[in-house]
Amino acid sequence: MSEDQKERKFTLEELKHYARFCASYHSDELPPYAEMTTEELNIADPFVFDFVMSIDDARAQYKDVIGQHLVKQLRKNDFKAEYFPTGKEAADYALSFVKPGMSIGFGGSISLQEIGLYDSVRKAGGVPLIHSSTTIRCDEILEIQRKQLTCDLYISSSNGITRNGWLVNIDGTGNRVAALAFGPYKTIVIVSLNKLGGSVEECIDRIQNVACPILCRRGNRANPCRELGYCTDCNSEARICRVYQIMKRPPNRSDFTVVVVGESLGF
Ligand code: SF4
Repeated sequence: MSEDQKERKFTLEELKHYARFCASYHSDELPPYAEMTTEELNIADPFVFDFVMSIDDARAQYKDVIGQHLVKQLRKNDFKAEYFPTGKEAADYALSFVKPGMSIGFGGSISLQEIGLYDSVRKAGGVPLIHSSTTIRCDEILEIQRKQLTCDLYISSSNGITRNGWLVNIDGTGNRVAALAFGPYKTIVIVSLNKLGGSVEECIDRIQNVACPILCRRGNRANPCRELGYCTDCNSEARICRVYQIMKRPPNRSDFTVVVVGESLGF
């Protein structure tokens, strides 16, 4: 958003438009211009919307506003933070930190796969540490996850982000929340706006009732949410929700950047 836009004064037409919107509600807290008559507003019907832009433009503007708000909140919470409308821009930003020979740990993430980061890191000469492959044996997976804890750069998505800039994650093995909390020399978390929740509870609700059922179905994990489409807080041996992490601030002495993405990624 440019400085001009930040400082912009509303035009009379915009105020009238807002007044029309407010006038459609019955509230004691309406601003004075909401009391203007329809004659003063020069409108025939206060309940009719003026469609002043396309739905795509409105959606893009909404994402920009929310994305910038999250960056502000994250920075208030001491995180480094950036906003990009697209996953490609976020991937390019993360890649700018990759140097040949660097070890790059990845938290298992569909979001990171969708923006092609695994391949891009290889092309940039980085040495990716990826444990989420069906061709790797269980003992090898654990070994890769241990190496991720001391890698040069750890890149992960986040299961959730609250409106006040806290990161919310749920892990089965705990490798990802461990690496987010301590170990790597630098951490970049890429989180898209479809992971946004108003509170920690809302984020956990979305994770357990949307993300986990999809993940259990995809990974053929025999948990109730796979069949029902919602969480039963199960006692299943295959339960994937075991370690719950809320990150309100970056850990002490960490180099921690959160990249917010407007485009929907993952689930
Ligand atoms: S607790 Fe069990 S049922 Fe609930 S989301 Fe996790 S795995 Fe699924």
